[in-house]
Amino acid sequence: MTLNAADRDPSVDPGVDFYRFANGGWLDANPLPPGYGAWGSFEEIGVRNEDVLHRLLVHAAADPANDLDRLLGDYFASGLDLDAIEAAGTTAIEPLLAAVDATTSADEVLALLPLLHGHAITAFFMWGVTVDHDDSSRHLLWLVQSGLGLPDRDSYDKDSEAAAALRSAYVDHVARQLTTIGVPAGTAHDRAAAVLALETRLAAQHLRAEERRDPGRTLNRHDLAALDALAPGLRLPAYLTAIGAGAVESVNVQSPRSLSTLHGIVAATDVAVLQDYLRFHVVRTVATALPAAIEDEAFDFYGRRVGGQQQPKKRYQRVLRALGEDMGEALGRRFVEETFPPSAKERARAMVRELLAEMRHSLQTRGWMTEATREQGLQKLESFGVKIGYPDTWRDWSGLVVSRTSYAANRLAATRFELARQLRILHEPVDRAEWEMAPHAVNAYYHPMRNEIVFPAGILQPPMFDADADDAVNYGAIGIVIAHEITHGFDDSGRRFDGAGAFRDWWTEEDQAHFASLTERLVEQYDGYVAVDDVHVNGRLTLGENIADLGGVALASRALARVSTGAPDIDGLSPAQRFFLAAATIWRGHTSEQLARTLAQVDSHSPRVFRVVGPLSNQDAFQDALGLADDAPYLRPRADRIEIW
Ligand SMILES: [Zn+2]
Repeated sequence: MTLNAADRDPSVDPGVDFYRFANGGWLDANPLPPGYGAWGSFEEIGVRNEDVLHRLLVHAAADPANDLDRLLGDYFASGLDLDAIEAAGTTAIEPLLAAVDATTSADEVLALLPLLHGHAITAFFMWGVTVDHDDSSRHLLWLVQSGLGLPDRDSYDKDSEAAAALRSAYVDHVARQLTTIGVPAGTAHDRAAAVLALETRLAAQHLRAEERRDPGRTLNRHDLAALDALAPGLRLPAYLTAIGAGAVESVNVQSPRSLSTLHGIVAATDVAVLQDYLRFHVVRTVATALPAAIEDEAFDFYGRRVGGQQQPKKRYQRVLRALGEDMGEALGRRFVEETFPPSAKERARAMVRELLAEMRHSLQTRGWMTEATREQGLQKLESFGVKIGYPDTWRDWSGLVVSRTSYAANRLAATRFELARQLRILHEPVDRAEWEMAPHAVNAYYHPMRNEIVFPAGILQPPMFDADADDAVNYGAIGIVIAHEITHGFDDSGRRFDGAGAFRDWWTEEDQAHFASLTERLVEQYDGYVAVDDVHVNGRLTLGENIADLGGVALASRALARVSTGAPDIDGLSPAQRFFLAAATIWRGHTSEQLARTLAQVDSHSPRVFRVVGPLSNQDAFQDALGLADDAPYLRPRADRIEIW
């Protein structure tokens, strides 16, 4: 993209509100569309990507060119066939509901978990397979806390009017959803209240969102004897055998307390309440593929109440999203054939090289860092893997059977297929070429155990990345994102993994103390921001992302200064000015109040407006580029500015 003057608001002093100065015109011209809880650059790209995918899928459904097209086309057609969805009713989940009905004791309820978890119904807890944090050539099975219908633990115990109202709306929702599967309306509300009470007892044992960011808390390897001793009543070795993972020698327990207390909670709860809890979670998991009465009810609570959407998205968008969750790489494969030429990959790769060089320079020049830690950090950086666009080898979908007759059955089949894949690779070496995000996703990631940064083709699109734009604009947009992901390898969590992806302390005590004193100041900065009404940003929950945002802007700005020497002004704007305008542009957007509340609780990223002022207020380069006075309100006082990387 080229920057657009109409997107700005020249009536605002950039030293007072640079976010508004850079984005005011756009913000006024682009109110929140009814189908969205948030709307900004990411969503704009998402809609454009969806248009491409939609076109491909319509074609695949009408005239499939190959097996992959047929798979995608059949799934897509089943999701659009509303008559068939109504006719099928709850058939797809009846076997699961019947199994719940047949239980007569707490232990029988627990014995159902392998079956439910095998359909991604995450009652009480869930399992998943990831890279082993002690040996990144191997896989490791995790048992993770789960099974709450509200966004997070805080939703159950927070003492505020908004939280109480959400809990009350949740009980109404659970009650209505139970009636859709035959619970008499007269008793549904009381029964739903009992489900909330059960979830509240479960939630009290969960790690909070900010605690889950700490690998020191969540990396808890247990051999089978230790696992059995942790929660004898759950008979976890037998559970592992039942899910098909009986041959493992050890597993990771994300939240030991929530597992060790689970049997006691379940045993002390009426079987009838446990059954209602399971019934609700079966319906909740599959709701968007079931008849309108159930899907609409799910939207009313999760879309409107939790997600702040006024209306559901269009049907094809909802099916596309489901398809992305269930068969992301299949969908993305068709996407990149259309949208991501080799030239785009090469330009992105060149930027990654420059930004890695900037991180190297940063590690070499941190005044507080001792040589021992510096050397290890540089080694880690040299081992970084980089993936751009899409996987070199594509996932094999043979064995997955979908049909045009039942959307819900397709979704469950895709879930079983994915979980079976995870169990299959559990005993295989890690495939370094594998991706953990769909190629069409408007997103990117750093993976600590793989020690790699990954940028799907979906985010390498305008305005984030434009092969035709000048460096200043690309460094201010995707360059910041690339540097953000690089920084994650050296944020408060990523820094605790080494170059081989092992969870290993390679920092001297002195360096740790220096790093912690810098990050504590950042916690304080963001704790001061208000997300919505009386709800503050949680500086500790968002710390890793804020470190990455700060590093992202700092590294990309320095890299641009290096590569843009002699670059001309464009439209009267210097490269540095264009960089910072682009940096504000990528975070422009509106967020509904409901979604802002939800995100403040669960999202490890700060609200978008603070992803601009947070880092920029700390940048001398920003002050210089805009020619702002030292006491400009948008800036932190010089002495308070934080530079980490
Ligand atoms: Zn991040």
